[in-house]
Amino acid sequence: MLEIKDLHVRYGQAQALKGISLTVGEGEIVALIGNNGAGKTTLLNTVSGLIRCASGDIEFEGEKLIRTSSEAIVRLGIIQVPEGRLIFPDLTVRENIRLGAFTRKGDLAADFDRVFTLFPILKERAKQPGGTLSGGEQQMLALARALMARPKLLLLDEPSLGLAPVIVERIYQTITEIHEEGTTVLLVEQNAFVALTTADRAYVIEAGRIVLSGPASELIENQDVRKAYLGG
Ligand code: ATP
Repeated sequence: MLEIKDLHVRYGQAQALKGISLTVGEGEIVALIGNNGAGKTTLLNTVSGLIRCASGDIEFEGEKLIRTSSEAIVRLGIIQVPEGRLIFPDLTVRENIRLGAFTRKGDLAADFDRVFTLFPILKERAKQPGGTLSGGEQQMLALARALMARPKLLLLDEPSLGLAPVIVERIYQTITEIHEEGTTVLLVEQNAFVALTTADRAYVIEAGRIVLSGPASELIENQDVRKAYLGG
């Protein structure tokens, strides 16, 4: 579904991605794990058209993306949930969710029903300003907003960031449900444990390069991965 080939991205003189290749098949959850500054956000931002690459190729369902606008990429069905959620604090929860449907025409009732079933707390808080929600609820809101676009491929940037373990578990349960309903997921995480226990396959990125890849169940047993990302 998504194929990235030999992707290079620079910020001025600094090389953030140094020849990344990876694939995401339809129906998979793929995780990209790596430490702070490894290039995870840069990769997602390049796929969603927010950053231009210096060289390489990105194809989604056979269409080349590297010169496509971020709005056109959204219309193709690639939706990103950014790091730090980036919700609108002064808009209500319902208004924040509604914004995710900006590419859609017609009745959104079934979509609101779906997200309120997945996240009942958002239904309870629908009239509250988004900024009054807890961190975990804001992550749910960011996911709900993304689902309103009916994504084919969901790009999740550190959904566990800054959340207590019990909330992380809840968010990941929902990511699994969203996936089971038919959405393909590419997620990036510093929290390797939660990513590897959720994903089908994973890639490990270090300083802009993929250093390991394979089934998540194998990577979680890998000695190097255990030492570097799972505390031994
Ligand atoms: P984090 O978990 O901190 O978001 P990351 O793995 O997502 O880390 P990136 O944010 O993609 O990493 O950063 C990759 C490299 O590119 C880092 O060295 C970072 O300092 C650099 N970088 C990121 N954004 C910019 C920018 N706008 N200008 C210059 N350098 C940048």
